[in-house]
Amino acid sequence: GRTASPLVPGRVTCVYGLNSIVLTDDGQRVECTIRQILKSLSIEQRSAVVAGDRVQIRIEDEHSGTIEHVEPRRGVISRTSRGQQHILVANVDYLLIVTSAAEPDLKPALIDRYLLTAQQCSLRPIVVINKIDLVDPASYQQVAAVYATMGIRVLMTSAESGLNIEYLRALLHGKQTALSGQSGVGKSSLLNAVQPGLGLAVATVSRDNQKGRHTTTASRLFPIDGGGAVFDTPGIRQFQLWDITAEEVAGLMPDLRPYVSQCRYPNCLHLSENECAVKDAVADGRIDARRYDSYCHLLEDDLLLAKK
Ligand code: GDP
Ligand code: ZN
Repeated sequence: GRTASPLVPGRVTCVYGLNSIVLTDDGQRVECTIRQILKSLSIEQRSAVVAGDRVQIRIEDEHSGTIEHVEPRRGVISRTSRGQQHILVANVDYLLIVTSAAEPDLKPALIDRYLLTAQQCSLRPIVVINKIDLVDPASYQQVAAVYATMGIRVLMTSAESGLNIEYLRALLHGKQTALSGQSGVGKSSLLNAVQPGLGLAVATVSRDNQKGRHTTTASRLFPIDGGGAVFDTPGIRQFQLWDITAEEVAGLMPDLRPYVSQCRYPNCLHLSENECAVKDAVADGRIDARRYDSYCHLLEDDLLLAKK
């Protein structure tokens, strides 16, 4: 009979239905069926293969093949909807939070929201303040310092002038990075600067959204020279807070967390309660007032109102 072709290692770019796009380690883009995997699994089909998975594939002809094996995952970004866990991307080392110093203006509260999700998913965040060429960098020193004391890396970059691009490239080397940030902050420009002549893998995925309408979303993977990749995955780029309750928020903020257990009331939300250790720490400057402000907005705007 026919001898089977050897297994080839690669990385899943996106999954749609029973098909996926795999970028092999030597740079081929192969359309692969996941049927084989589903047959071998007793678990439910959802999330059997997801973007970011390391896989072994068998190539059948030039551009198509079969996923034969999925490597164990680490660092997933997932959300729960209707009681089911849904993995958006697997094997993520970093959450790259891209913002801009101007055009659009920096919104520290938005950074805080992204940081909460990074914390929740146990991802290491990197905060990028791009377009720093448009402002006096000193004006963001204060914001950056607060994050630095929390152990969070903050990079001021300019895709325009090249400032800190080399440093960003070194950070991303060999790592899998999920990209987030509002549109217009310069995500594409930064990636192009980091990786000139980008080998873009693009796929358009059509799937049912919850209202039963069809939405078109694109999942993209940008390979980084010498190993590593950046994922631009729908649902992450501008994600909302999910699976999080008001009671959990302070515990997910490293600067607030140490005070939470010292409040008078065990279910204290640190808003208008008396004898609140968090508010005391804000009052005497042990917690940055702007961060606390973010906390209040997160609860009032994102969580409490969303709950009603
Ligand atoms: P994306 O939507 O986040 O991918 O943003 P783009 O990369 O498309 O950039 C949006 C706009 O910002 C474009 O007009 C870019 O030329 C501009 N831009 C991106 N990075 C910089 C930067 O570092 N400095 C300045 N001055 N403009 C930038
Ligand atoms: Zn409190």
